[in-house]
Amino acid sequence: MAELYELDLSSASEGLKAGKFSPEELFDSCWKRAQSCEKNIRAFITETEDFAREQLKNSGKSSSIFDGIPTVLKDNLCTQGIRTTAASKILGNWRPPYDATVWKLLRESGAILMGKVNMDEFAMGNTCGNSAFGATRNPHDISRVPGGSSGGSAAAVAAGYVPFSLGSDTGGSIRQPASYCGIYGLKPTYGMVSRYGLISYGSSLDQIGPFARTVRDLQLVMQLLAQHDPMDSSSFREKNPDFTHNPNVNLKGKRVALVKEFQSFTLDAPISDAMKHVEKILEDEGAIITEVSLPIISKYAVACYYALAMSEAHTNLERYDGVRYGYTVQDAKGIKEMFERVRSYGFGSEVKSRIIAGTCLTEPSRCEEYYVAATKVRTLIAQEFARAFENTDFILQPVTPSLAPKIGEVDEDEMKGYETDLYTLPVNLAGLPGLSFFTGYAGKLPVGLQLIGARWSDPELLNAGVVLERRLGSPKIADGGVE
Ligand code: GLN
Repeated sequence: MAELYELDLSSASEGLKAGKFSPEELFDSCWKRAQSCEKNIRAFITETEDFAREQLKNSGKSSSIFDGIPTVLKDNLCTQGIRTTAASKILGNWRPPYDATVWKLLRESGAILMGKVNMDEFAMGNTCGNSAFGATRNPHDISRVPGGSSGGSAAAVAAGYVPFSLGSDTGGSIRQPASYCGIYGLKPTYGMVSRYGLISYGSSLDQIGPFARTVRDLQLVMQLLAQHDPMDSSSFREKNPDFTHNPNVNLKGKRVALVKEFQSFTLDAPISDAMKHVEKILEDEGAIITEVSLPIISKYAVACYYALAMSEAHTNLERYDGVRYGYTVQDAKGIKEMFERVRSYGFGSEVKSRIIAGTCLTEPSRCEEYYVAATKVRTLIAQEFARAFENTDFILQPVTPSLAPKIGEVDEDEMKGYETDLYTLPVNLAGLPGLSFFTGYAGKLPVGLQLIGARWSDPELLNAGVVLERRLGSPKIADGGVE
């Protein structure tokens, strides 16, 4: 039989329920796998083996499919009593006094926490290299980035540490690492998953979502997480959506649009080939391929997103003052010096530059011209998507214009890095759901694409993912640099 760590969430859960192996055996296999890859991958910020072993003592008691299933969490999700850093020095050894709602739901269902994983500091970046804890590496090729900001969550699932994990996506941070690591990642509709206990970056854009090696596993996680939470005022109040897995779903008569303006943009050959291949599959499945025009999005979304994200970040990060959280200095001469020293030492350079930009964008004399203008453009972007979805069910597009770059390649030219987010960040501006799905490999590197749906269409989006996975095949576990 395959090693236990190779099992996906649904198979691991079935095996546990059938008594084929114990939660300890499953954890030991996953833990051993993680330990053997970790010197190459470096996904963990904090390993929580002791906590996991405590949890395992109570495993096997609940009927939940998560009972006894190991997982990891991006380190911007609060875990009571367990160090939570957002990959920043400024949080020091901060231990949250409460659990994020998503972790509370998983913990109460019996999921086992293996660790807190790496990310770009405060989720700002797309390489997982802007971290006070060093860079995580891509399990398919350790000279390359796993993507970011949720790079640790994606790498851990791709390398077989755990069958599923959670990350957050403000402008692509679930979808982009999912595609670089060759797995599935869902950025849910804004409001569908509670953000309570997620360390804020851009609160109007942030959304928590799952990574897994099958679409079915994304459905299982979403079935648990998509529920109203009184602790998050933006959490939806409708009845819980139905994410039941149906292996026989089809796409007959569904309209799938390509974006007219994107077609003149350059893509690496494996990505444009994958686009053509997936178009054919969709047609073959009975879908109708159409075209939508998104002129405002293709031209203004990047500038609009960064203006808003940085403005919100500068406000959200005001709270790190050396008084309330983590890192502080004892010998400052007055409060001003304390703030200066704490924030100069505590924040990394990307975070600092965004705080400064956000301060300028919202400064009273410029606020109308920049921040307020960006909020208006955002409304136009949401309207442009809403019009497009009157005549289409899904939009098919890349996640990124290229495959996972080499470590160090992206950081050299920051603005270029921002522009590569063009395919992911419009989704956050409009609060839509976006699925990053695996299409195959180009050499040893995986190639992902993205399907976008209208607001609240997450269950249909995942059904489309089931069809695509049926045709394209599921990803294999990456060698993690050890085989
Ligand atoms: N790369 C984008 C940024 O740096 C998105 C990051 C994210 O989704 N958290 O803002």
